[in-house]
Amino acid sequence: MSEKKKTKSLFTHLVCLKCGKIYDPLTTHTVCEDENCKGILSSQYDLKKNQLKPEELKNRKASLWRYKEFLPVFNEENIVTLGEGFTPILQLHNLGVHLKGKKVLLKDESNNPTGSFKARGLSVAVSKAKELGVNTFVIPTAGNAGGALAAYAARSKSKAYIFMPKLTPAAFKIEAKLLGAQVTEVDGNISDCGKIANQLANENGWFDVSTLKEPYRLEGKKTMGYEIAEQLEWNVPDIIFYPTGGGTGIIGIWKAFNELEELGWIGRKRPRMVAVQSDSCNGIYTAFHEKKEHATYIDNGFTVANGLRVPKPYADSVILQVLRESNGNSVSVSDPDILIALHELTAGEGLLVSPEGAALWHAYKVLNQTGWIKEGETVLLLNTGSGYKYFDNITAP
Ligand SMILES: *Cc1c(COP(=O)(O)O)cnc(C)c1O
Ligand SMILES: [Zn+2]
Repeated sequence: MSEKKKTKSLFTHLVCLKCGKIYDPLTTHTVCEDENCKGILSSQYDLKKNQLKPEELKNRKASLWRYKEFLPVFNEENIVTLGEGFTPILQLHNLGVHLKGKKVLLKDESNNPTGSFKARGLSVAVSKAKELGVNTFVIPTAGNAGGALAAYAARSKSKAYIFMPKLTPAAFKIEAKLLGAQVTEVDGNISDCGKIANQLANENGWFDVSTLKEPYRLEGKKTMGYEIAEQLEWNVPDIIFYPTGGGTGIIGIWKAFNELEELGWIGRKRPRMVAVQSDSCNGIYTAFHEKKEHATYIDNGFTVANGLRVPKPYADSVILQVLRESNGNSVSVSDPDILIALHELTAGEGLLVSPEGAALWHAYKVLNQTGWIKEGETVLLLNTGSGYKYFDNITAP
């Protein structure tokens, strides 16, 4: 590799979050190979060797690849990009009494390719897979991850097989097909899709990029944490609200803040992390309030927020650990409340957010009313996607 083509990535190895076993960075990995462990693999970097100064980022492109030293791809030529990341942070100011005495920011991930933050994870996962010679992918999805995989697979001339619940709005299916993927509708939820995807991956040698069963989507999502800190001039908010399905974002943002502290770019302060779920699948919410270490499988069926219909996240214990470490919280929201919140945010601020993002606004109002959010605090809502693909689930008032 010529010097010019190197990303100067400081990536060294993967480590199992459960048993500590180490994996090399030059072959493909999914989860820990120990049958009794199967823990999540986390990318490690030699951050002590970092030479980049935070000021130097100002001259870089508005893309998540501006943080390439802290991402796992070694060769520039393997980066598969459609302009993902560096999304705006907007301050809410039209929603009256709810905003009194608080600074409420919304990071708008709907500006990403294919309209959601899933672009981040899949840009990095597909890039790293390309570096390792993979060209056929399979994914179970509630909608947005499938569209994002389809786009990055098309861009890198790879093949994508997508398994999506039948109950997903039509736009998600059309999108993925238009992008050249093979889409299979499954009569069930995302866990059922995951089982089929896993079996076909084993039978055909396809690469399964299920949430947190593949290490590098997490690295893509972690860039939200880098951006939040950079965009707030190397400060962190007091509270971050995150719509939690598989939980990659919440874990990734937390990882980012730890790396940034190790780099000396932020201090010890951390936001309180709030996992917001749908009443349909609120295993994290339930386990958090019952002080359990693991979530149980909960699926009460359809929700307008497809991305939150995850009956049992693979990373349940890691998500719960982040909530505890951060003195965070968890809120579960009903579909009627999600739709009211969506109308308020959309008509009130001009932001046609996804139902998952709208759930955060409801959760914010709840925790604000209880006094959990204090006078003068800065709150960040992570609107994970655009509402435009959800018109089967949402109607105008
Ligand atoms: C996938 C998805 C989520 C859930 O994200 P996780 O990182 O899996 O918790 C939330 N919102 C939208 C719009 C999504 O597509
Ligand atoms: Zn392990």
